[in-house]
Amino acid sequence: MNCYKCGAEMRSQRARVPGEYAGEKLVVDTEAMVCSECGYTTLHASQIDPFTTELADAYRVKQGLLTSAQIRIIRNRLSMTQEAFAKYLNVGVASVKRWELGKAQDKSSDELIRLKSNLARAEQNVAVIKFNQGGEADEFSGGRGFSVIKLGQVTLFFLHKAAERRAAIGPLHINKLCWYADAENYRHRGVSITGARYARLPWGPAIDDYRMVFREWQRRGIIAAHGVDKLEPLQPFQPDAFQPEELEILENVWNRFKGGLRQIVADSHKEKAWRQTGHAELISFRLLK
Ligand SMILES: [Zn+2]
Repeated sequence: MNCYKCGAEMRSQRARVPGEYAGEKLVVDTEAMVCSECGYTTLHASQIDPFTTELADAYRVKQGLLTSAQIRIIRNRLSMTQEAFAKYLNVGVASVKRWELGKAQDKSSDELIRLKSNLARAEQNVAVIKFNQGGEADEFSGGRGFSVIKLGQVTLFFLHKAAERRAAIGPLHINKLCWYADAENYRHRGVSITGARYARLPWGPAIDDYRMVFREWQRRGIIAAHGVDKLEPLQPFQPDAFQPEELEILENVWNRFKGGLRQIVADSHKEKAWRQTGHAELISFRLLK
């Protein structure tokens, strides 16, 4: 193949070739024909497909979308054929083939792939639903719809109290302190404070999906985690989120356990509501009466 411009010989080599994908102007590093004399660069017919794939991948990287190689890796991790993966995503197999060959998927397909293949992404999605939608007010939520703001504030309340005493507390204690706060408010006023649900775990009551809850708060910059059992408050406690009676309950719960946080684990195991609930089941606030 000779140069159209000067007639000299052209060689196949890596070159920076400009192109356009979905209206986006990009430059990709690809195999192209380059003139040894004047440097004129063009693509041979056989180089067009790889170039198109690289162009689409450059576009995807720029748009924050999964590349064709990443999609193939994800599918292989799930041990699925293209057909099985298409069925799993409820898209046509032609779409999966095109994505892996280099046609960029749209943003909603990209999100679908991530949600159905990435555990962290799926959990974050659950967190968004859970946190934004709230939840039913029933016997397991203490008759109140879940309020992520209040649960976060109750956590901050206890973390600031612990920080004042230079005591290290972590999820183990926070779970129980929150449960006692909700339980005490329910005993006195027939309704919980936060609307959180608690499961019976071997070491006591725990906020349902507490790992996800604490991760989400770390993501939102409300708390920081140091090691397995030290949480640090990153935001101030806002008393305005509570009624005076609720603040009194929070103070009472803290005063009851501040001297010996180990006591709270022992005490929670004696609670009837905890003992009468099966392993890993949600604890009904009705058992508190
Ligand atoms: Zn030339």
